[in-house]
Amino acid sequence: MSERGAGGAGGGAHGDGPAVVWFRDDLRVADNPALRAAADSGRPVLCVYVWDDRSPEVRAPGGAARWWLHHSLHSLAERLEAMGATLTIRRGPAEQVIGGLLRETGTAAVYWNRRYGSERRIDERIKTAAREGGVEASSFGANLLFEPWTIRTGQGGPFSVYTPFWRACLAAPAPRKPVAAPARLTPASRIDGEELEALGLLPTHPDWAGGLRETWQPGERAAHEQLRRFLADDVAAYADDRDLPGVDATSRLSPRLRWGELSPHQLWHASATARDRSNAKGVSTFQSELGWREFAYHTLYEHPDMATVNIHRRYDAFPWPRLHPAALHAWQRGRTGIPLVDAGMRELWHSGVMHNRVRMVTASFLIKNLLVDWRHGEQWFWDTLVDADPANNPFNWQWVAGSGADAAPYFRVFNPELQREKFDRQGDYVRRWVPEWDTPDYPEPIVDLAETRRAALAAFDVVKSAR
Ligand code: FAD
Repeated sequence: MSERGAGGAGGGAHGDGPAVVWFRDDLRVADNPALRAAADSGRPVLCVYVWDDRSPEVRAPGGAARWWLHHSLHSLAERLEAMGATLTIRRGPAEQVIGGLLRETGTAAVYWNRRYGSERRIDERIKTAAREGGVEASSFGANLLFEPWTIRTGQGGPFSVYTPFWRACLAAPAPRKPVAAPARLTPASRIDGEELEALGLLPTHPDWAGGLRETWQPGERAAHEQLRRFLADDVAAYADDRDLPGVDATSRLSPRLRWGELSPHQLWHASATARDRSNAKGVSTFQSELGWREFAYHTLYEHPDMATVNIHRRYDAFPWPRLHPAALHAWQRGRTGIPLVDAGMRELWHSGVMHNRVRMVTASFLIKNLLVDWRHGEQWFWDTLVDADPANNPFNWQWVAGSGADAAPYFRVFNPELQREKFDRQGDYVRRWVPEWDTPDYPEPIVDLAETRRAALAAFDVVKSAR
């Protein structure tokens, strides 16, 4: 076991050094190719997580996501401990931290699972430096079913429309089978690290996480149990009921995927194995939703700045009026007087998620009825969702705004009252989150839906004529 502090990325011989596994959005031990490669290398294994809220390429997680991350890291540390290893936590810009760690420990090999946004520039730089220093550096595909550079149009470019994209995915070689967790890990010598608590990921003053604790149990074990239950109980009705927010019909696996407690490969193969005559339609629909996640990530790969920049640049001409903070605040707190919007925003605040149909309706209301720039909404979701995802969140906001890939046309303005009548006919969902609905305590709508729709369409005319 190497204690060769002075060797390192510049030092040359790393024959007996440890293999470092750098965990990021893959907080699991099963189907973790980087961890598996480290175990298979026969070297002592050093597991590391870097809390990097400093590198400009990294988008720091929002409040609800940090809560999840804390608990998921805690669970990962326990899993690794049971296998004989320790999770070392460090903080700071990843390039410096990983570079320093490779030198400090005389690392022979460093492994990680790939990221697809602008953070991949950090990974490229670390890989180059490590290799120049004689350290083996390998990255693995673990968080997507299909790597972005493998799914291309006939002209060799990325797809901009979902249906042909997903068709091309289904025609490509099938996603690999999940890899098993290593049974045991040979631990490398312990090195200094931070206590998880010292990262300050949990809210304290005030502690607003009561609703999250009530709703979720982060961690890999709970994730597997949730997947098992979904496939046993709910997937059969998924295709028919997934649009009904009052019915618990969807998998609620999004935070598991976001933090990598489960991989899409595990979901893909588990759902394929569970498929039978009674649930085939549900399984196919579920898999095509995983396809939307793939599409969002492939879009992020092409547009790493899509959280702030319109994918279709002609939307830069959209004449957003001056922001009315009171309207934004009413939306954020679920006090718009539009029941489905308020129910969704309160569900989000309490539980850190919101039903997909209602995400579309609340986003459309903000952008098109309140005429608030989609970036304000995206940022609020980023801060309040436990599944706040660097690809799915901006992708879907731009989808609703009309500026994104294969987006809803701008003129398709969701009417939140008709959506409620159609998808929450009995009012179960609205009543759960807005108990004072239909009482004098409930506020009047803050805007007139028909009037604001007309104003939005008039504003959109500016985009139509922009080049
Ligand atoms: P299920 O219906 O069980 O779907 C299974 C999985 O498929 C999901 O967990 C998710 O990974 C994927 N998926 C489903 N729908 C979509 C979609 N439209 N786009 C991309 N992937 C999808 N999803 C996030 O994971 N993180 C986000 O930050 C996020 N922000 C969104 C913002 C807006 C404005 C909108 C309209 C949608 C957003 N979504 C986001 C997509 C979707 O709403 C959630 O993935 C879904 O509600 C999660 O619930 P579920 O796991 O029960 O989904």
